Amino acid sequence: MAGPADIFDRMPDARLTSPEPVPEPSDEEVLQRFPSVRLDHLNKQYYKGLLRRQLRAGRCAQCGRWHTPLRPICPACWSARVSPEPVSGRGTVYLLTSLHQGPPAPGVDYSGGFPLAGIELAEQPGLRVAATVVDCPHDQLRVGLAVELTWIDREGAPWPAFRPAGLPS
Ligand SMILES: [Zn+2]
Repeated sequence: MAGPADIFDRMPDARLTSPEPVPEPSDEEVLQRFPSVRLDHLNKQYYKGLLRRQLRAGRCAQCGRWHTPLRPICPACWSARVSPEPVSGRGTVYLLTSLHQGPPAPGVDYSGGFPLAGIELAEQPGLRVAATVVDCPHDQLRVGLAVELTWIDREGAPWPAFRPAGLPS
């Protein structure tokens, strides 16, 4: 009998549209590229998205609402008709903190204060992800700042970050 997480294996790849012609990575590639992540059949869809430079959130075909992180059923209406879809990458800083200490982490420098933000995504009020903010002087970081998705390198794999919206690329 198929468990709830198996629905993500049954989804056609056509749903996972990408502006880049990068093929959907295999399970083996995800395991190889994210060696320190505890992967399962649900969150692998998120990490496969990262390798294609897509930030994926769950979307319900029943009620249309988005959710993060990926879940086997919709937290709003309990429908199992959920699938991971790329978000636009537009959002605003909802919550902001600066880490001055913490466990060693790749690409994290605590010496000048490492910005960590809760980003509210444009798709839906309350749809939020945690990420760092780059390309922004720390004194210009503020709640309400309009940001857009960008990509940084973390242990050789693409990792989502946000930067002030409208910067030249
Ligand atoms: Zn729903």
